[in-house]
Amino acid sequence: MTLLADLEEFVADHRPHGLLTGDATEPALNGYLLTVACPCGVVFERWVTPLDAELDLLHAADECHRSMRSVLFPARGFRLNRTTV
Ligand SMILES: [Zn+2]
Repeated sequence: MTLLADLEEFVADHRPHGLLTGDATEPALNGYLLTVACPCGVVFERWVTPLDAELDLLHAADECHRSMRSVLFPARGFRLNRTTV
């Protein structure tokens, strides 16, 4: 399973439970920890490498999850102003 597939599954399973709350640690050289918490108590946690973030998540946010952007990317130190990947 890829990060994106895992995340999509988590969102599909838990979005009906209420507002999902995304957060991320400060990016380090080897990536950052992405967390998405559901009101039901389940928390999705995944270490995201810079490569994942740029090729996978960012693409997904642009193409598939526009509405989830604010949830998945708290915009803390994450470069959302890239126009192309
Ligand atoms: Zn849930």
